[in-house]
Amino acid sequence: MKAAPFEHHEPTTVDEAVSLLASVDEATVLAGGQSQVPLMRFRLSTPETVVDINGIEELNYVREADGHLRIGALTRHADVEESDLVADRYGSFADAAPEIGDPQIRNRGTVAGSIAQADPKGDWGSVVLAHDGELVARGPDGRRTIPADEFFLFPYETDLAGDELLTEVRVPAAREREGSAYRKLKRKVGDYAMAGVATRVILDGDGTIETAGIGLTSVDLTNSRAAEAEAVLEGEAPSADVFREAAEAAREECNPETDEHGDAEYKRRMVGVLTQRALADAVERAGIPVERGRAAQ
Ligand SMILES: Cc1cc2nc3c(=O)[nH]c(=O)nc-3n(C[C@H](O)[C@H](O)[C@H](O)COP(=O)(O)OP(=O)(O)OC[C@H]3O[C@@H](n4cnc5c(N)ncnc54)[C@H](O)[C@@H]3O)c2cc1C
Repeated sequence: MKAAPFEHHEPTTVDEAVSLLASVDEATVLAGGQSQVPLMRFRLSTPETVVDINGIEELNYVREADGHLRIGALTRHADVEESDLVADRYGSFADAAPEIGDPQIRNRGTVAGSIAQADPKGDWGSVVLAHDGELVARGPDGRRTIPADEFFLFPYETDLAGDELLTEVRVPAAREREGSAYRKLKRKVGDYAMAGVATRVILDGDGTIETAGIGLTSVDLTNSRAAEAEAVLEGEAPSADVFREAAEAAREECNPETDEHGDAEYKRRMVGVLTQRALADAVERAGIPVERGRAAQ
């Protein structure tokens, strides 16, 4: 099927895109098109106007500035995959990027587009939640910053207004004793996650876990945060026992459903396994060798 007729605009600046979104009804942003184009072709989305942001070069960057890792809205999954900065300092981002779809999808799809799409099976939402990240949006009333914790409302629904453009995804810059990881279980290469777990830990001077972040993929109505598991970790010395206790908490607080990707109880168990692995990886990347221990039951 072909998409319903629409007007196609190609702004080259953020200002132009924002004023277009404000001036027309029924406008949709087009980034990598990996989710939006199929929806239009099946006529599940029939926008009158498409604001195509692929010509806005100022939105294409991955950099550290002013205390944040900043990812512009035109940054493709492949740009993150190929970034030396990410490979050196942001383990969870480096783990997640090559796990997304296949090379064609990673070459076109954007990190911000994936987050705006708010598919609970999307990988980036969990990573940004684990890092206490923020989403930067521009609209007719100016710029606002939305904590990731407040961004995902329902499946495919976010706090972003129809006339707002997501311009940047950002997380606090990695500290010296910080490590992060992402572990994803999928049925085969190229699939969405059956379950995924993003972790981030910051250790204090004596190796105690000062801050812990855990984001979950595909096991709730939205990408979600395992707050009780985080609380188990904070103030504790990293150990196989503590990871197991946190994994049990994450397993209890997730809400998976049985679907074509797997059985709910199996997904719940996998959340436990992936949480333990991703915590051990994050702590190791923060500079402390860890004992891995047996899996949570
Ligand atoms: C076969 C297949 C496999 C996939 N596998 C995975 C996977 O394993 N993991 C995963 O995480 N994702 C996966 N994806 C999704 C992929 O990551 C898409 O790139 C992503 O969902 C959408 O990003 P996009 O840049 O293509 O956005 P688009 O398709 O262009 O847009 C998606 C939505 O976001 C909105 N939007 C986009 N950018 C902005 C912006 N800057 N401001 C406001 N709104 C915006 C659009 O209006 C639209 O509603 C897969 C997709 C396909 C087709």
